[in-house]
Amino acid sequence: MTTDLAGASPVDQPVRPQRADVVPGVVHCARCDFRLVRKTLYMLSGTVGAGDSDTEPCPNGCGPLWPVTWEQEAREGYKLADDLFDRAKRAEDALRELVALKDIKDECLRVRQRRPQSVTRVFPQDLLDTEADYRSRKDAAWVAARVALGPNV
Ligand SMILES: [Zn+2]
Repeated sequence: MTTDLAGASPVDQPVRPQRADVVPGVVHCARCDFRLVRKTLYMLSGTVGAGDSDTEPCPNGCGPLWPVTWEQEAREGYKLADDLFDRAKRAEDALRELVALKDIKDECLRVRQRRPQSVTRVFPQDLLDTEADYRSRKDAAWVAARVALGPNV
């Protein structure tokens, strides 16, 4: 998208000047958060610009669509970035725990397999403790992973 209309004919220029405090062409509903982004195609110059920010009724029937200010846009952008960071951190933590548990399980299996069959089946207490730790953390780790991935998994 370009907003440079220097090459556009006067016919292509916006009729009304845009307010400086609003995002050009973006309106939203304060009740249902519906967002409409208007674009204008300038056929003669082949460019695309922001549409108007005029109010109109929300298509969901809740009230008017209001122009979005740059401050609202910035706050929503930062909130989205924070939410995405938190989600990624939760998924990373859950994955890290699952990988750690897989390593613990593999190590326990190696220790068990190293013991000759002729030896008594009594295993060292530290191995039994490690296996108990693995079992106690496994279900919680899977729950955390499923929560981190969201409701559709
Ligand atoms: Zn609405």
